[in-house]
Amino acid sequence: MISVAIDGPSGAGKSSVAKKCAELFGFVYVDTGAIYRTIGLAAFNRGIDTKDSTAVISLLPELSIDLRYNENGEQRMFLSGVDVSGEIRRPEISMCASNVSAIAEVRDYLTDMQRNMAKRYDVIMDGRDIGTVILPDADVKVFLTASADARADRRYKELINKGSKVSYEEVLNDMKRRDEQDINRAAAPLKAAEDAVYLDTSSMSFDDSVKNVCRLISEKTGRQPK
Ligand code: C5P
Repeated sequence: MISVAIDGPSGAGKSSVAKKCAELFGFVYVDTGAIYRTIGLAAFNRGIDTKDSTAVISLLPELSIDLRYNENGEQRMFLSGVDVSGEIRRPEISMCASNVSAIAEVRDYLTDMQRNMAKRYDVIMDGRDIGTVILPDADVKVFLTASADARADRRYKELINKGSKVSYEEVLNDMKRRDEQDINRAAAPLKAAEDAVYLDTSSMSFDDSVKNVCRLISEKTGRQPK
């Protein structure tokens, strides 16, 4: 099985680039942020303070979280059998996801789910610790990043297009707060694996980012995109 790990901060374009590359190579795209978001949502819905690690840990045995693919090959997240793929994208759930993801027990709880995907399929997996912790032997490792302004600008446009009423400043501040927390946490902090290829997409178009990642995958695996 081939595995491609794409890590980086929020808004760097990981998910759209990874999704497109997965389509071109016929690999399965795994969005691991969506899994943390599902746990964040579960805690939020029960009124649990997502910074209260004892409360979040005690919730884990009661959770039923499923990652499934629909007929279009899109990843969907299910919480207790209900499709929550839309709900987990709410801006207030982003920080909940970051809070629960800083808890080592939450990370351990999700490790097998992620590794099992890579055992069963050729995958492109994006997240924060894929190349460092989840798939340290991945065939290809990319650290995809961009300036804070470029990332906030992309995230802002994405949210506005979805109908959210947010300001650019709110998006920039939330993103900086979340990245700072993801970088400075003790459990699997966001960082590039030593053997990752660093790709700054600040002044790259989406197509160029895709081309660069596809080229790396081809070089390292010998596979060719469609
Ligand atoms: O990628 P996305 O922004 O959806 O991820 C939401 C949050 O989940 C991140 O801010 C990060 O705290 C956490 N996360 C993580 N490890 C991953 C993927 C996401 O800690 N592999």
